[in-house]
Order: sequence, then C-alpha cells, then structure tokens
Amino acid sequence: MAKTASTHVGACHCDMCRKWGGGPLMAIDCGTDVAIEGEDYISVFDSSAWAERGFCKACGSHLFYRLKQTGQYIMPAGLFADDDLNFDHQVFVDEKPAYYDFSNQTENLTGAQVAEMFGVTD
Ligand SMILES: [Zn+2]
Repeated sequence: MAKTASTHVGACHCDMCRKWGGGPLMAIDCGTDVAIEGEDYISVFDSSAWAERGFCKACGSHLFYRLKQTGQYIMPAGLFADDDLNFDHQVFVDEKPAYYDFSNQTENLTGAQVAEMFGVTD
C-alpha cells in the first residue's frame, strides 16, 4: 500500500527501463511510506549505483524502482486504479527510440536534466 501515491504518471524511456519491461516504464512517485504485502515473494536487485528494482518472484510483475539514498518508491502505474491518474511527464527522452511517440502534452526531461534534479553526477 502506498499512502502518499501521486496521481501524476511519468514515463521513463531509459535503456534500462525498456530492457526491464519491454517498453517505457509508466510509473508513479509513491514517496517513502510504502508497505507491500507478501514480502516473501519480492525479489530486489541492485540496478544501478543509486537505485534498486523489485519484482514478484511468482509472476514476474514489476513492483518498484527504489532510490537508495532516499528510500523513495517509484511504482508502475498499472498497479493502481487508473481513475485519477494524469500522465504529465516523461524522463530520459534523449534515450527514447524513434519507433514510438506519445501524443500527450507532457513535461519532458533528458537524462542529464533528471540527474541534475536529483543531484546525481557520475
Ligand atoms: Zn528508466
């Protein structure tokens, strides 16, 4: 359960997300106050220096992208009821392949702009 889930949906076009899910990751910022039932089924792997990814061992469903430094959860939009969701931003637009485009009007950030926002530098 995500007590502070945002209603703003973002798409991440980075290479890692697209390899993980087969396409862009449509996700919601859920803050740090997240409790997931059935902990035995959750597998977490270290996906980068700043984040880890969790999925269900039984069915493979993607459960979260979690920032190591803050414990902030970004969770797939498909896990939530879609009534109040609003797709309004896209990140890593510079890694988006040319074969698709969303027509939604969104705020678009490159990977460098995202890194700057989170204070991450290589
Ligand atoms: Zn990504």
